[in-house]
Amino acid sequence: MLIDNHNRVINYLRLAVTDRCNLRCNYCMPAEGIDFAARDHLLSMAELKRLSKLLVEEGIDKIRITGGEPFARKDLMSLLRFLAGLETLKDISITTNATLIGPYIEELKLLGIRNINLSLDAITRERFKNITRRDQFDLVYENLIRLITEGFNVRVNCIVLDGQNIEEIYELLELTRHYPVSVRFLEEMPFNGGSRTFNKIQWDFRRILKHIQVKYPSIQKLESEPTSTSINYSIPGHEGTFGLIPSFSRTFCGSCNRLRVSATGDIITCLYGKPRANVRDLMRLEPEDDAVKQTFRAAIGNRSKTGFEEQEKYKNVFKNSMTSIGG
Ligand code: SAM
Ligand code: SF4
Repeated sequence: MLIDNHNRVINYLRLAVTDRCNLRCNYCMPAEGIDFAARDHLLSMAELKRLSKLLVEEGIDKIRITGGEPFARKDLMSLLRFLAGLETLKDISITTNATLIGPYIEELKLLGIRNINLSLDAITRERFKNITRRDQFDLVYENLIRLITEGFNVRVNCIVLDGQNIEEIYELLELTRHYPVSVRFLEEMPFNGGSRTFNKIQWDFRRILKHIQVKYPSIQKLESEPTSTSINYSIPGHEGTFGLIPSFSRTFCGSCNRLRVSATGDIITCLYGKPRANVRDLMRLEPEDDAVKQTFRAAIGNRSKTGFEEQEKYKNVFKNSMTSIGG
């Protein structure tokens, strides 16, 4: 079992499989993209499988595949098939922009992968296009409805962006009226690769909640799992639910059970810090799994207690783009 220096069990891996993406969300990266990693700096398929297997042996029982856009990686299904065969891995989930997922929906079902987080910051075509800088709304919406009706457990993630999508909050909540979907509103974080100026948070979770209560005064708070990052609510009469994720306010650090590995093999123990080590070169040199496991144990044994504490240790963390970190 992986336990950090603050006695938190680390059982959840967020694994980025690429830093590439076919969208250019303006809160994530600049229009021209970022300095994407050279291809041979990305973890190979064999490395992704090895890494996942040894971390599952160490006690990871939940893996979320992220990126960049995971489905931009052509060999993604090979990894998912491999993960589906790992006996003690209880939960495989994917975070995606849902532009490229269509051809894979049937096989995801067969593999038993049911948990999909779908990023959607606007449900009107024009706003979607302005935010993502790509005209792909119809495709995303079609895949969203397909995933829901095919029985996937879909969570829609919307980043609340001042001046860009506040009107979309009520529109997105309407999705929960007839669909068993969870719509989650996330605070914006300053990881946009220099795309936007981020001076201070404009819409924190309290302000988002107040805004929602204006239209839906009788919302009810729901019980959430102790490691949940979202505060969840239901709206009477609605089939789905909604949640607020204080990703910038960081109210959930005390129960953080997460470990991140970037597409280039960086071990990230907190979103608000810098990588603690890199496993790509180590894996390329080291045939013994135990040496790789030891590197993870050392990183996990030296975590900051909170994202605020971590942020204090480093300069320039806010220059990163989320497409390199994985969200
Ligand atoms: N491309 C996939 C997607 O968009 O779902 C997966 C990778 S994306 C980096 C993972 C998550 O990070 C998405 O939900 C995205 O909205 C979120 N994200 C990206 N930049 C962010 C930022 N600056 N603040 C908060 N969330 C961000
Ligand atoms: Fe791509 Fe996801 Fe970043 Fe949007 S948030 S640019 S879809 S990686």
